[in-house]
Amino acid sequence: MDFKDSIRVIPDFPKEGISFKDITTLLKDGDAYRQAIDALKALVSHLEIDVIAGPEARGFVVGAPLAYAMGVGFVPIRKSGKLPYETIEVGYDLEYGKDTLAVHTDAIKPGQKVLIADDLLATGGTIATSVNLVEQLGGKVVGAAFLIELVELAGRNKLSGIEVITLVDYE
Ligand code: 5GP
Repeated sequence: MDFKDSIRVIPDFPKEGISFKDITTLLKDGDAYRQAIDALKALVSHLEIDVIAGPEARGFVVGAPLAYAMGVGFVPIRKSGKLPYETIEVGYDLEYGKDTLAVHTDAIKPGQKVLIADDLLATGGTIATSVNLVEQLGGKVVGAAFLIELVELAGRNKLSGIEVITLVDYE
């Protein structure tokens, strides 16, 4: 399956010059969604993974079904102020804007092997921040899995030493 057929590209969203990759068209197609998760599962099958962590919100729609399919737990990485228990937080720059991500202090045990999942790798800021949070808790990030990589933005350069797995590339 060519997953690009299921991804809608919206020019100038959320602002001029950004070519937004809209995955809602893939998500609403049950066959494409299942095949995408199954394909990611196959691509990470050589990694030893204890838990998957994914950043709000589209990291949940990739990371949670992947965790379910693999029989491992899922850790939500959320925007500041959303998690109810004690958290650690890290601020970061987005492709467009700034934000802060947080995780519960007991979400990951020291030494656990963590796969980070999100819908799309752009500049890598979101995932580098997620890696930072996981590592602060003592987790070891063994890989980062995405539906989409925006290759030109070279986000994978921020993830040196971490295996980057992607289904679909855009220039
Ligand atoms: P980065 O931090 O790598 O620059 O940006 C990636 C984050 O921004 C991801 O969490 C992703 O959900 C969101 N994002 C940035 N650009 C796009 C896009 O074109 N399509 C989608 N679906 N998400 C995007």
